[in-house]
Amino acid sequence: MLSEFDLIKQYFQRDLPGRATLGIGDDCALLTPTAGAQLAISTDMLVENRHFFAGADPRCLGHKALAVNLSDLAAMGATPLAFTLALAMPKADPAWLEGFSRGLFELADLYGCELIGGDTTRGPLNICITVFGEIAPGQALKRSGAVVGDDIWVSGTLGDARLTLAGLRDELPIDQDSLALAAPRMHLPDPRIALGQVLAQQGLAHAALDISDGFVGDLGHILAASKAGARVNVDALPAGPALASQETAVRRQFCAQGGDDYELCFSADPGQRDAIMAAAAACGTPVTRVGIIEAQPGLRLVDGAGLAVDLDAAGFDHFILP
Ligand code: ADP
Ligand code: MG
Repeated sequence: MLSEFDLIKQYFQRDLPGRATLGIGDDCALLTPTAGAQLAISTDMLVENRHFFAGADPRCLGHKALAVNLSDLAAMGATPLAFTLALAMPKADPAWLEGFSRGLFELADLYGCELIGGDTTRGPLNICITVFGEIAPGQALKRSGAVVGDDIWVSGTLGDARLTLAGLRDELPIDQDSLALAAPRMHLPDPRIALGQVLAQQGLAHAALDISDGFVGDLGHILAASKAGARVNVDALPAGPALASQETAVRRQFCAQGGDDYELCFSADPGQRDAIMAAAAACGTPVTRVGIIEAQPGLRLVDGAGLAVDLDAAGFDHFILP
């Protein structure tokens, strides 16, 4: 049986030149941000049977646990520096730890984000990561900055993670090809770090967040923080490639309320449209304009013809979202 310290040494401590001044092994890690930069800090927890099914692929879990945290840095426009990992598991299973640490470090290395410490304990499987990033003062993209008249933009595509969940739960008949296309969106989300950085560094967006709990609810956070309302064309929401071939009511609902998308939603002055398209193209992340910020409070969902859309009346209320 692996001791706690053997386990940390074997799976989480690496002999690589790191970003941190002092990494794993002491009572605290020491991190020296770039002079004058602000630290951006966020924590996200993944709990078995709440955020993932028991028996989930450990490599995907390692990736996703870090990805959802990096997505928060992306939303602010911050550059990843380092993270800590607090891990509770029922037993020290070498095969699980091997897969988990591989998925974790593959993504960490992609962004030069170093594991600098954590805590390990026995308990129900629970993965908690705190991520540290940095950003120049005044550049962080907050939820509170949206201005009446702003365009509302969404990165990438929405809804394929929710479609995967529907397939796993047998809520919808979904063919194997669609499921294979959609599943990576649920299991291996891709944090939009480059897009967030370019929006922040070039001052292109007024407000931003990452879409983790569904577009409608998350846009609501920007509207509340910015004391504004919005009008959104649900048929402009960019459906994932698998979801795009589903019937309209499913496509609309999963795009608008799906969850687990980890795309960015941001608002920006209409005068920045060309600059945003160019910046997004340069970092290889498609972006789509889906609506506008309005003075009238509340969110108005419309179709392409401008007619009101009531998602709840669409006849899919048997989809109980988690
Ligand atoms: P303490 O007793 O001070 O809480 P621990 O004995 O829990 O320290 O941990 C020893 C070292 O290993 C610390 O530097 C801690 O940050 C690190 N550590 C513990 N668990 C993990 C983990 N899951 N991943 C990375 N580092 C870890
Ligand atoms: Mg400890």
